[in-house]
Amino acid sequence: MERYASAAELVAVRRPERPVVCSRPHAAARAARWFIDNFKGDVAYAYKANSSVFLIGALYGAGIRHFDVASLPEIEDAATIPGAELHFMHPVKSRESIRRAYHEHGVRSFSLDTEDELRKIVEETSGPSGPARDLVLFVRVAVPAINSRIPLERKFGASGQKAARVLVETRRVAADLGITFHVGSQTMTPDAYVNALAEVQSLIGKAGVVVDRVDVGGGFPSIYPGMQPAPLKHFLGAIEEGVDKLPVREDVRLMCEPGRALVAEAESLIVRVEARRGNDLFINDGGYGVLFDAAHLGWTYPARLIGREPAGDALVPYELWGPTCDSIDHMKGPFPLPGCIREGDYLEIGNVGAYGRAIAGDFNGYGKYEEAILDDEPMMTLYGETAAPEALLG
Ligand SMILES: *Cc1c(COP(=O)(O)O)cnc(C)c1O
Repeated sequence: MERYASAAELVAVRRPERPVVCSRPHAAARAARWFIDNFKGDVAYAYKANSSVFLIGALYGAGIRHFDVASLPEIEDAATIPGAELHFMHPVKSRESIRRAYHEHGVRSFSLDTEDELRKIVEETSGPSGPARDLVLFVRVAVPAINSRIPLERKFGASGQKAARVLVETRRVAADLGITFHVGSQTMTPDAYVNALAEVQSLIGKAGVVVDRVDVGGGFPSIYPGMQPAPLKHFLGAIEEGVDKLPVREDVRLMCEPGRALVAEAESLIVRVEARRGNDLFINDGGYGVLFDAAHLGWTYPARLIGREPAGDALVPYELWGPTCDSIDHMKGPFPLPGCIREGDYLEIGNVGAYGRAIAGDFNGYGKYEEAILDDEPMMTLYGETAAPEALLG
């Protein structure tokens, strides 16, 4: 893999025709160290956010050994990581994937939110000598999404009497009973976790079960233009306080599953401007590629002109259009960039490491990327001292 000091150096050397996914593994490692140093439990990386070998390698190097996985292909991939402990945290799994995860890949940890799913897990993990006795089962409970930019509340999670019943039934078969939730992605304030843990507290009371593990899920924020979250330390403080109040075992084992917060800063994207029409820039990646969230959720990312000095310093609010023929391939932004942008210019779009490359498809013949490693700082960071001043505009 080619390595460069910065996107500017890469563009000077390569004049890339295709979009370039640039990894900053040092940024992923720094985020992982922060979580490992500050979270009082296991830090599991949510594999779906980004499965780049450079970033997984960096997370591993920083000490990450737990992985939250959601499908058999993810499990097959992650099972090659030495010493990895995998948690199959999708509440609806195929029977084949449960069976193969348990019998072929050594997975012992599963989540569920119904008695039907519990039955599937018990049946598929049983062997000739009877039911498995080493299951770690996390009951996923529904919690309100508070200040989350991507709420996840409607799809999964048991609540009320049903949740209490699932907890009781799961306790009968689990070696370790856990309880888990997901507050929604890019959660801006810690009160989401405070509320979720209050809900957990009430459900444990209703069910009257001994709980061995608490998994507070993912949802920890990253930083984007116009989205400055509360300090990460406040999130962990709120979680500690909430967990202290829970009627669980004294030695309860905690886990969290950050995806976005570990990798968002660790990738940026270099694109080329193929046309300018007014303040609309037509670029060579978009909503079917790494910029999915920019197109479909109206997300903005830090962006800068690279490869030449801007003529004048006035910034113009641009909209971006992706390369496919589809008119929803449009990133409204706005993306403030110098007024002088013209065809052939290169832009670096920062902080796309979470759910960027992971989501990209190849509709219309696009979706082929070059790759490189960069040694400089991410354009915006929650963990470092510096961020380019232009990254903070918008
Ligand atoms: C996606 C997901 C995560 C990671 O979420 P982030 O918002 O990226 O932190 C964690 N746990 C589960 C079960 C998930 O589905």
